[in-house]
Amino acid sequence: MSAIAERLQTVLAQVAAAAERAGRALEAVRLVAVSKNHSVEAVAEAAAAGQVLFGENRVQEAAGKVSALPDHLDWHLIGHLQTNKVRKALPLFRMIESVDSAELAQAIDRIAEELGLIVPVLLQVNAADDPAKHGFTAESVRETLPRLLRLPRLQIRGLMTIPAFTEDAEGARPAFTRLRELRDALEQEQGIRLPELSMGMSHDFPVAIAEGATLVRVGTAIFGEREKA
Ligand SMILES: *Cc1c(COP(=O)(O)O)cnc(C)c1O
Repeated sequence: MSAIAERLQTVLAQVAAAAERAGRALEAVRLVAVSKNHSVEAVAEAAAAGQVLFGENRVQEAAGKVSALPDHLDWHLIGHLQTNKVRKALPLFRMIESVDSAELAQAIDRIAEELGLIVPVLLQVNAADDPAKHGFTAESVRETLPRLLRLPRLQIRGLMTIPAFTEDAEGARPAFTRLRELRDALEQEQGIRLPELSMGMSHDFPVAIAEGATLVRVGTAIFGEREKA
């Protein structure tokens, strides 16, 4: 077995164990293998080991991989999307996890209409309320959501967050809890379903699963350390 295949099996086992400890169904949690800054060959190894869902943070890099790799793979965009790259991005990704402003949401809706697409998205919430990070604050997502729900080409599936880095995985738990509680509140207030919570990375995904993550985005634990871009 390749090193990547072995690490993938380990992560999948950890995902399953965390789901079980939380009393959640294994199918309730999906692993997004974050392949940014890793080669087409590395992704091909993970795909050969059975991984189907991959995460990329840059459109250009993803385009090269999507065209070089088998069609059955699914790709999620997990990085900031500039409005001038939306047209190129939409055909590549099954989901845009990183919708971080109303302007971007509107641009996606408009171009999706032109391209005849319906686009599943997550709204990125800056759970740490850190102004240096992309994303809605809890306040602004609450304010903006009614407007975004009227965009016909956008299918808002849930929320995504990247917490401030903490050495200890437990340090991220409050941010994960807040995202889940925000999701629950928005569902109530708007009378909608927001089934997806994308949270948890290599060092803290078991904690995220305990707090309700449905998508965990794991790079380093599968592919090893990234080369600096
Ligand atoms: C790079 C990245 C990840 C994966 O991080 P690891 O620590 O390598 O698991 C997850 N989410 C986002 C948004 C990323 O940019």
